[in-house]
Amino acid sequence: MLIVMEKTATPEQIASVVAAVQGQGYEARPIPGGERTSIGVLRNQGPVEAALFVGLPGVRDVIPVTRPYKLVSREFQAQDTLVHVGGVTIGQGHLTIIAGPCAVESETQTLKTAELVAAAGAHIFRGGAYKPRTSPYAFQGLGLEGLKILRRVRETVGLPVVTEVLDEESFPLVEEYADIIQIGTRNMQNFSLLRRAGRSRRPVVLKRGMSATIDEWLMAAEYLLAGGNAQTILCERGVRTFVNHSRNTLDLSAVPYVRKESHLPIIIDPSHAAGRRDQVIPLARAAVAAEAHGLMIEVHHNPDQALSDGAQSLYPEQFATLCRQVLAIRAAMGA
Ligand code: PEP
Ligand code: MN
Repeated sequence: MLIVMEKTATPEQIASVVAAVQGQGYEARPIPGGERTSIGVLRNQGPVEAALFVGLPGVRDVIPVTRPYKLVSREFQAQDTLVHVGGVTIGQGHLTIIAGPCAVESETQTLKTAELVAAAGAHIFRGGAYKPRTSPYAFQGLGLEGLKILRRVRETVGLPVVTEVLDEESFPLVEEYADIIQIGTRNMQNFSLLRRAGRSRRPVVLKRGMSATIDEWLMAAEYLLAGGNAQTILCERGVRTFVNHSRNTLDLSAVPYVRKESHLPIIIDPSHAAGRRDQVIPLARAAVAAEAHGLMIEVHHNPDQALSDGAQSLYPEQFATLCRQVLAIRAAMGA
């Protein structure tokens, strides 16, 4: 339930509504808006009796929330969330391009790729230091050494960095070195990891589980917001289907749907969706046309030698083409 206060409501009136909500054993979450404050009612097990709050001074309206997710829903917050990191803004009105290799392999590889993607127009650099690999024998990432390389690259190239966290154990370390923390598709419903990320002050990119419905994905994001981390970015990266012409199937309708249901930014990762380089640019163009707030693209300075996901990694000149084309699409849309 959402309690909408009058524009003229005083801080005392807001505080007494909060107290009334808490008096019922619920959590009250004030949500300051541009014009008026709303108060979200959380942790109720069943329906909440609207009559308890309707007549309180300063209350304009009491609205039942019809979705299972609350804090992430448009019903709770009408205006778009903007995520700010290192001088970059992600969300409505922006097209943020995140690019870099699947994995940090060496300082030379990371630095070279970072310089190339920065020159082509990337706003944020990506690279995995801890890699979630299907095979335990495949390259697992450089771990702490990878994080240190990312830090050096950020200092040299000047782009904020996003990197994946795999578990709670390594969370403090990743949080120390990364500007944005990524929770990957395989961990979307790792609830203890989500709780830990909810307590973090770093923005989080939450990838959609490869078999998750959008409701499940938004409920996973709810863990982050309920834990206190409102700087959350959703990332669609393709879902499992029966096809074999691509690694996954990019669910582009997630973009208009999520934009309607939630105020959180949604970006698209066409690289993991496609699994093959020849589909990445067309899917990126489509994502921008569908009004995604950003893209995450795998680029390697020498994809043929990549230790992971080389087949889907763009050559630097392809990435430069992608940037030019998506900016042209955005301009054609009047943005
Ligand atoms: C990645 O971005 O490096 C990654 C492993 O992605 P996903 O979790 O979408 O597979
Ligand atoms: Mn990858």
